[in-house]
Amino acid sequence: MKIQAAVLYEPKTPFVIEELTLQEPRDGEVLVKVAACGVCHSDYHLVAGTTQHPMPVVCGHEGAGVVEAVGAGVTRVRPGDHVTLSWSPDCGECFYCRHGQPNLCDTFTGPIWAGTMLDGTPRLYRGKDPVYHYCGLATFADHVVVSQQSCIPIAQNVPLKVASLVGCAVATGVGAVMYTAGVRPGESVVVLGCGGVGLNMLQGAMLCGANPIIAVDVNEAKMQLARQFGATHTLYSDEHLIEAVRDLTGGRGADHAFEAVGIPKLQELALEVARPGGTIVLAGLSPMGSATNLPGAIITRQEKTIKGSYYGSVNPSRDFPMLLDLYMAGKLKLDELVSREYPLSQINQAYDAMLGGEVARGVIVF
Ligand SMILES: [Zn+2]
Ligand SMILES: [Zn+2]
Repeated sequence: MKIQAAVLYEPKTPFVIEELTLQEPRDGEVLVKVAACGVCHSDYHLVAGTTQHPMPVVCGHEGAGVVEAVGAGVTRVRPGDHVTLSWSPDCGECFYCRHGQPNLCDTFTGPIWAGTMLDGTPRLYRGKDPVYHYCGLATFADHVVVSQQSCIPIAQNVPLKVASLVGCAVATGVGAVMYTAGVRPGESVVVLGCGGVGLNMLQGAMLCGANPIIAVDVNEAKMQLARQFGATHTLYSDEHLIEAVRDLTGGRGADHAFEAVGIPKLQELALEVARPGGTIVLAGLSPMGSATNLPGAIITRQEKTIKGSYYGSVNPSRDFPMLLDLYMAGKLKLDELVSREYPLSQINQAYDAMLGGEVARGVIVF
């Protein structure tokens, strides 16, 4: 079939809206009519050139839509099902899946980074030339063919616009607090960086009963959003920050410090604002090859625990429906995350707005 997609031909160039050919779903694959997809910083790493990927590529690794057709052997969904998409398909059978860590499943890592479907071939073509899929999803398009492992069925009454966000920043942020750190009621939390992931860490901390919940940023607009998403205090990131956090936490530092951006300097700051015996959770994706200087002398003597958090340590099939249930019950803010909607044709403007820090989350709506 013919589809409209946003194609990236090479780093440091704009997305080009074009008609591509999308092949039929093969064994284990699903054709989804995309209703909405999120505008996320991770796609921008391909534009900036800080993530290497085969090109040309259709980016987009968040989305929700309606199943239109399924290939042979598909058991997880049927035509008409509403689904939200996971950029980390899990096989259910490998070491990690069997040990309760499906977010670390490595069965499909090879084809995903090769930009193909799980069988190693693409479904997208421009004329005779292949176009690659980012994360096995390629949601910057009105239709996608994805593996059934990427499809998480959801209730029909959940708006697809908000469902499109659950599979990335929401899962990463809420999951980092709920699962990676396991924050308990009354514990103190600091979140460094109040973008899409950070705001969801704040509402995750609120769901876990944390107190105080301290949000740190350098952008005044983000700080206002932070209060809306559960921050009890907002602090400007400057030379007084460490002292200010200690003032709010009995002079010790926070029980849990979360880094939501992936900047080495902020990761180092996270270590400083956590109390002795506290936990530092690094959930922001740093550019490949970057390094962080965390002083071993302090980690040992002050018994600080540093944890990486990938995809919020979530189990997508278990947790995406749970997060949407929380939304439907009024306990998780998703409408408020969508600060601007765009048609696909305005995707470059959507990225400009994201880079300018103007929006919590932009969403492309089809
Ligand atoms: Zn994302
Ligand atoms: Zn697996």
